[in-house]
Amino acid sequence: MSLADKLTRENIQQLVPYASARRSMTGGNIWLNANESPYANEYELDCSVLNRYPDFQPKGLIQSYAAYAGVKPSQVLAGRGADEAIELLIRTFCEDDEQILICPPTYGMYAISAQTCNIDCKKVPTKADFSLDIDAIQAAKDNVKVVFICSPNNPTGTLVSHQQIEQVLEIFKDQAIVAVDEAYIEYAMDTSVASWIEKYDNLAVLRTMSKAFGLAGLRCGYTLANENIIQAMSKVIPPYPVSWPVAQIATQALSESGLALMQQQKAQVLEQKQRIVDALARYDYVYEQIESHSNFIMFRSEQKKALFDTLVQAGILIRDYSSQVLLDNSLRISVGSKEETDALLAVMDEFKG
Ligand SMILES: *Cc1c(COP(=O)(O)O)cnc(C)c1O
Repeated sequence: MSLADKLTRENIQQLVPYASARRSMTGGNIWLNANESPYANEYELDCSVLNRYPDFQPKGLIQSYAAYAGVKPSQVLAGRGADEAIELLIRTFCEDDEQILICPPTYGMYAISAQTCNIDCKKVPTKADFSLDIDAIQAAKDNVKVVFICSPNNPTGTLVSHQQIEQVLEIFKDQAIVAVDEAYIEYAMDTSVASWIEKYDNLAVLRTMSKAFGLAGLRCGYTLANENIIQAMSKVIPPYPVSWPVAQIATQALSESGLALMQQQKAQVLEQKQRIVDALARYDYVYEQIESHSNFIMFRSEQKKALFDTLVQAGILIRDYSSQVLLDNSLRISVGSKEETDALLAVMDEFKG
């Protein structure tokens, strides 16, 4: 055992780090495995300010986030992606002996973030149709301090109904923060619960620029919540969470022309998504696809391994979720550009299983 291993905290010794698409899968030339946008956009940078530390919360950026989300600037916290907000919530609100609660199958970073903080994670699986099991959540509520609900959910693409989100907020009122992860909300904007932060003082909404805005490489996201939650998280966030280049680029992406570009690219993605949905419905080797409210599609095939390997051989990377709870035989495809979809469907049309 190396000295570093011996000195590492016990919970970190046991930790298997998050197998992000970029970390666990290399090669390929068509990446349909991380729910990114296929489009890289151009931005302008003013470097004349780089000798100075950035503002704690760059004003223009906060105003842009607030205007876009329809909340007050004091109800926004900008940081390095939704992933940072997940960890901040745990570090801000969980005592050592308290827990988070998640409803798998869902985004993997909630459990991993908890583990890095040595906080236990209660797992209450969804029903088979991926709706929440409200009775089971109620039964598991003791000692829970932060609840993560993802809608549209990654990796299933399903929505959690407003009625169920309200039930969870009620179960945990006066007890726990309920974080609704809206990483994919641009694909289902009318289902956002951002306006509920006025009504529920235990609600936090997580957003990101990484998905529909096509800025995964920038690392920027934001939390929406009442001012008291924002102020508590502001105590824990590092002193300069948003660099000047990040603030400049994200602000441009949220400008009128930036928003129009996002909408246009979203429409293109949805067009390609429909082609994939139609194709999956035709293939004999696909026995189910889950209705998606996002830029990715999950489906089931008995031949999942052969299909996955055939796509890898063609340089196309998708994601295998078949080992996860309720996801037998499931693969997930992130929707790419027209050319990428052409290449994907050319291989899938020929695949015989
Ligand atoms: C991609 C993703 C995130 C991470 O977003 P970043 O802002 O890139 O850290 C968070 N939640 C869900 C559900 C995601 O799919």
